Parts: sequence; structure tokens; C-alpha cells
Amino acid sequence: MWPAKADSKTTDNRRAGIRASFGGSSTQIWKSRLSWRIALAVFLTILTVQVAILSVNIGEVRKTHLIQLVEEGRSSIVPLINKGFSSQPFTNDDQVREMQNLTRISGIAIYATIDGQLLKSYGQPTVARVTRDPETGYIRLPQNYYSNDGSFYDALLTPKSMGGAPSYIVLKLESKDIELKVQAYIEQTILIMLLMSAFVTTVLMIALGHWLLEPILFMRDNLVRASEDPENPHVRESHYDPSDEIGSAIEISSRLIKQNADNIRRIKSAAEDQIHKLAYYDTLTGLPNRTLFIQKLNEMTKAEGNAPDKKFAVIAMDLDHFKDINDSMGHNIGDAILRAVGKRLRAALPEAAVVARSGEDEFAVTMALTKDINNARDIAERVAGVIRSEPFKVFSETFQIRSSVGVSTFPTDGLDPDQVLKNADIALNRAKEEGRDTIKEYSEDFDRAVQQRFQILRDLRDAMEQDQLLLHFQPQFDLKTGRMIGAESLIRWWKPDKSKEGGHFIPPVDFIPIAEQSGLIVPIGEWVLRTACEAAADWQKRGFDMRIAVNVSGAQFFKSDIVALTDQILRETGLKPSNLELEVTESIFMEDISHAITTLQNLHALGVEIAIDDFGTGYSSLSYLRQFPIDRLKIDQSFIRNALNNPDDAAIARTIVRLGHSLNLKVIAEGVETADHEAFLMSEECDEVQGYRYSRPIPLEEINTLAANYDGKLSSFDKAG
Ligand code: C2E
Ligand code: MG
Ligand code: MG
Repeated sequence: MWPAKADSKTTDNRRAGIRASFGGSSTQIWKSRLSWRIALAVFLTILTVQVAILSVNIGEVRKTHLIQLVEEGRSSIVPLINKGFSSQPFTNDDQVREMQNLTRISGIAIYATIDGQLLKSYGQPTVARVTRDPETGYIRLPQNYYSNDGSFYDALLTPKSMGGAPSYIVLKLESKDIELKVQAYIEQTILIMLLMSAFVTTVLMIALGHWLLEPILFMRDNLVRASEDPENPHVRESHYDPSDEIGSAIEISSRLIKQNADNIRRIKSAAEDQIHKLAYYDTLTGLPNRTLFIQKLNEMTKAEGNAPDKKFAVIAMDLDHFKDINDSMGHNIGDAILRAVGKRLRAALPEAAVVARSGEDEFAVTMALTKDINNARDIAERVAGVIRSEPFKVFSETFQIRSSVGVSTFPTDGLDPDQVLKNADIALNRAKEEGRDTIKEYSEDFDRAVQQRFQILRDLRDAMEQDQLLLHFQPQFDLKTGRMIGAESLIRWWKPDKSKEGGHFIPPVDFIPIAEQSGLIVPIGEWVLRTACEAAADWQKRGFDMRIAVNVSGAQFFKSDIVALTDQILRETGLKPSNLELEVTESIFMEDISHAITTLQNLHALGVEIAIDDFGTGYSSLSYLRQFPIDRLKIDQSFIRNALNNPDDAAIARTIVRLGHSLNLKVIAEGVETADHEAFLMSEECDEVQGYRYSRPIPLEEINTLAANYDGKLSSFDKAG
């Protein structure tokens, strides 16, 4: 199954949505989640780095301000110092107080350098103090002290820093504004940091958008388009530089999409070819099948329409008895023969001819008639000739195959291709009916014959309901003893009409084949078997030791349960099974040989006898004869009729008698019309006879009379004859 171009409306809309939001324009970048993630990560990274730097800087800034503060205090105090003082550090205390008011010095403590003694203090007391170790007498100088709330800073000024004053001075300095300054510094720095981060992020976003996201979205858009219609993807051409990573990724993805589309198209077309092959070609022979043949015929008729004087031939050919070969030799051999037939036909006919396998063992040919080959029959002869010309060799076996061929011509025999082919088929059926191995050209009469068949079938159905069917009986005799051993039942159809006689007989050959083809033979056959058995049961009661022979068609063998029916009728009528003989023809072995054998065995098991009717005319299954449970061979009347003037027929009759005897079978001859026939059969030691010499098939009452009056001598028929 190929993906539908549009699965559903919703999927379509969703895809359209995806395409709209990732159109690749730079404004879309701000909607991209990936961009935001990158931006946030960058922003936070810059911020973290700056916070780290800031936290280091704060200490430095504070320190710088405190140094400035101390320097300010020192420079304010140094000019006031009494340089050579011993007990009076400042020349003037008032100056000191004034200086205190003007500067940020809130307290001063002055210590002697010799012993660390507090000499004098002004203003607020300092926390940092110079002390003296009482044990060692060493002076301990304090560290500068910064109050916890940052409101003051006590700083020690050494004599050196004051240009050689003979004292240590600890200044108490007001430092409240330093913390304010540090605060301001922090705020300012944070603002700058934020602005900088935002700026960097923006620039980065734009750069990312341009170099990374836009191409990714472009690629994604192409992939979405490709997934919508993989076979014909509307991929946009890339304008990105293929030498960078993303540009080459886009190029590769586009190439893959195109390759995928190519592959799909290739697979699809291969599948289409395959499907086309399966739908239009016969896998065994590789020839066009019936469908393609009709299509070609259509094309030809249309093309011929433009050139009205053109004609072409349609040939339908069927291999004779192919089914028999297939069933008896196996399908491998059958298939090999069909292939060989296909090859021979193809090789024997011109390139322009269409040769098709139109059915199981049927082939069809069509070809335009030209100046060289202007007769459809010539082509038919070539077809039949090519099959007959030499035997088919398969697995070191040879098979001589014949064919039946039907011919029709366009436009003479039909204007539409179906009709021309149908007419070729009708002609083919005719060829088969007329004993196969023949060529038949279509004639309108065939159509009429088909219509007639339909009429007969309709009438035959009525005949069954209106009791127009009856049985006649033809006696059979033992040639040696002259005894009347039984009779064959033969169906008669008395069709009422408006004639003087009130009706006429329709011969069985005119309706039995039609009944067989339509399946109507099954109910007819059932009626025949029951009526015949009833008659024979009546003979049994009257004390006539006579067998009844009943004809059974192949169709009854294969389309109904003849065994169950026979069993049931024997029980119903009380007829002794050995007094019933079923006559079958060799044709039943052609349909399904194993089914035929089983059925015959089951019938035989009932005690019923089996005769092979018209023996010698069928497609010989002599090799199988031994396997069949049969009791009697019935020599076909054609051999008897001609035995006296045709040595071949006499030889066949003789051979059948010998063959039968060698297999322990009885042999009966039918169509015995004259005493000469009788004499011939007697000399050949044939066992039984039946024919006009003794009696035509007659109604039940008449055969009853005959049986009652017959003196047991065949010579008694001399006078009658
Ligand atoms: P078949 O079974 O071979 O029957 C023998 C045919 O030869 C009969 O023709 C019979 O009338 C004819 N016949 C007998 N003796 C002579 C003779 O000395 N000379 C000539 N020229 N003909 C003779 P019929 O009755 O027309 O039957 C024709 C065929 O119809 C039968 O051939 C049989 O195949 C079929 N048929 C007849 N009745 C039935 C039936 O009840 N069921 C089936 N399935 N087929 C039947
Ligand atoms: Mg018969
Ligand atoms: Mg016969």
C-alpha cells in the first residue's frame, strides 16, 4: 500500500501549521523554544560570571574607600601635630576640635611610642587601642577595626606615616557613606551586568538565528514537505553554504529526500509492472492472458476502424485430450507441454501476431490479414500444423498432440472484439464436437445451432414433466447358445406435434449431449435407471432370466452419486444386482481417472456388472484396462458395420475380442444387422450380439412378447430378416 497523498484533513492542517510556524523567517526565531533555551543558558552564564566578579570586587571597592578615608584623616591631622612634642601632641586643642567638626574624624587617641601610654584623647573613644604587655613590657599595636554596622573605622597611624611624630595615633573615622557607596557600586554594576547580558544574548540570538536556527528550520520545512508527499516532495533549493556543517546537513537531507522519492517511484513502478504482469500475462508460458488478448483485440478493432478494408483473423485453439495427459502423467508434464506449445506458436507466427494463453489448454491468436497471408484459415492451419508437426518431448517421453481450432474473421464474423472471439470459440466447440483434430471456420449456422440447443433444452425440461420420455428395449443374445440374455434400454423422446401421427421421435443423439452439458442428464438418468430396473424386476418375477443394460453418462458419474442411487433403486425394485449392467464409455476415464475407478469399484461391489460401450472409438486407455473392474467390452457398431468390406475394421473387431478374452471379459457386438455380420462374429468367437438383425429397440410390451415367444434359435431371425 502506498501512503495516501493526504491521510486526513487534520493531519493536513497540522502539517500546514508546522510549515507556517517554521517558515524560516528571522522573526520566527523568537518563537523557537530552542532559541529561548540557548538564550536563557547564555544569559544565566554571563550573569553568574559577572556575579562572581562582582563579589570579588565589592571587598576591593570597600578597601579603597577605607584607605581613602584613612588618608583623608591622616592628611587632616598631620599639619596640626606638634612635631617636637613631649606631652602636648597638638599645638592647639581648639584647632583639633574644629578639624573634627570639618572632617569625618569623630575620635582621636594618642599613644606614646616609648611605653604605649595613652597621652591624650579627643571625641569618641576608639575600639582599637595600643596596649603594653605587663610582663614583657612590649607595646602591642592594634589592627584597624571596622565596626559591624560599618558606621565607624578605627585606624592606626604610625609615626612613620605621620612624618616622624613621636606617637601612635588611633583615629576613629565615620564610615557610614562608604557602605552607601559600595551599595551604589553594586547597584550600578548589576544594572550594567543586566544590560550587557541582554545585549550579548540578543546578539547571540540573532547570530544563532541566522546561522543555526534558520537553516535548521529550513531543513525541517523540507522534511515536512517530504513527509507530506514522499513520492513528489516539493523541496526548496538551499541557499546555505554547503561548506559549513549545517549547510552540508541540509544538502545531505535534500539528497536523501530525493533518493527516497526515487526509490519509492522505482519500487512503485516495479510493483506496478509486477501487478501488470500478473493481471495480463500467463505465468506459465509468459504469453498474454485472455484479458490482455481481448484488450489487444479492442485496440486492433479501433485501429482497423480507420482503415476499413483491413481484416484480421482470430483463432481459438484447444489441445485435444490434454486433460487426460495432465491427469495421467502429472501436472509437471502438462505444464511443460503447455510451455512448449506456447513457444512453438510464438516462433511459428510473425512478430505482429498476438499469441495468448486464453484458458487451461486453450490458446488464442490474432493477426492482421495481409497480402501474403490473406486467409484466416491459413493461419489456423499453421497453428494446428505447428502442434501436429512433431511430437512433444518431455522428460524423455514423447507426446503426439493434436488440436482443435476455431476461426473467425474481423469484421466479417463480428464487429466488436468480444463477438469475434466468441465466434472463434463457437467454431472451436464445433471442431471439438466433430471429433477434434479439426479446424472449423465460424459460420452463422453455428449461432443458429446454439439457439436450437437452447430450444431443445427448454423443450426437454417440459418433456420430463409431461411424460414425453419413454424407454425402448433392444434384446441381446448369446452367440453360442442363442439364448436371449437381456436387453439394452434406450431412451426415446416422443414429442407431440400437429402431424397425423400426433408427434415424432427425437433421436437420443440430438438431445443426450445437450442434457449432458446442461446437467439435465442427472434427473433424466435417474428416471431411466429406475424405469429400466422396474422392467427388469418384472422379468425376474415372470421368470425370464434377463439382464438389463442401462447407459450411464460421464456427467452422472461426476455430478451425482451414482453408487448411492443404484443401491437405492436396486433395493426399491428388488432387482438382483447381477441382472443390472451399466454401460459407460471410455470418456469417463478422461475426466478424473481415479474418481472413475473408485466409482466403478463401488458399483462393482454392489454386484452390478459394468460394460464399456462403443469400445475402440475412445481415446484409448488400454493400458489401464486391467485396473478397471469391468465385465464386458461392447464393440462399437461402426467396426461391425464395416467388418465385411474393410479389413482394418475387421482387424479391430477381432483384436477387441481377443483383448477382452485375454482379460477374462465377455465381448458383445452391437449393430449386428445381417447374418453375415453374425457369421463373422461367430467365427471370431465373439460372445454376445445385439442389433437390427434380431430386433430394433422396441417398447416394453413388445419385448415381453418377444421373450415369451422366442424359441432360443438365432436362425429363427433369418425368416424375419
Ligand atoms: P449406444 O448406447 O451405443 O446405443 C446403441 C445405438 O445403436 C442405439 O441408438 C441403437 O438404436 C442403435 N442400434 C442398435 N442396433 C443397431 C443396428 O443394428 N444398426 C444400427 N444402425 N443401429 C443400431 P439410439 O437408441 O439412437 O441411441 C444412441 C445413443 O444415445 C446410445 O448409443 C447412447 O449412447 C445414447 N443413449 C440412448 N439411451 C440413453 C440413456 O438412457 N442414457 C444415456 N446416457 N444415453 C443414452
Ligand atoms: Mg449403449
Ligand atoms: Mg454403443
